[in-house]
Amino acid sequence: MKDGVFMNIALIAHDSKKELMTQFCIAYCGILSHHNLCATGTTGRIVADATGLEIKKYMSGTQGGDQQIGARIACNEIDLLLFFRDPLNAKPHEPNEANLLRLCDVHNVPVATNIATAESLVRGLERGDLDWRDIVNPKK
Ligand code: PGA
Repeated sequence: MKDGVFMNIALIAHDSKKELMTQFCIAYCGILSHHNLCATGTTGRIVADATGLEIKKYMSGTQGGDQQIGARIACNEIDLLLFFRDPLNAKPHEPNEANLLRLCDVHNVPVATNIATAESLVRGLERGDLDWRDIVNPKK
């Protein structure tokens, strides 16, 4: 990653994936700490408590936090979405999730829905593979 290039990264984890998200953020804390982080309410609180990372917290997913993040994606303000979803238990706000992923496709926002892809993306982020996002979404 070029010096001074930072990304807006959004984190969302369903309940059964919150521990995994926390462990992931502990493991990649060194990389994530160079970027602007935001998250749905509970995910943000748990990850921030465990890592000390500064995270802007939106509302809880059930209260519309995922839609708040969706609105930022719609404005092309999010450069990377890490969304650890539970593939086994349907959530009442599932239609919002499909919309979230659709908006990522609209704006070519890199998105991971599981830890395997998330690792690749975060390593790529460190290498500078996502620096082009700073052209479509300049932060300075
Ligand atoms: P939460 O929301 O981080 O507030 O639990 C995540 C979700 O369930 O969409």
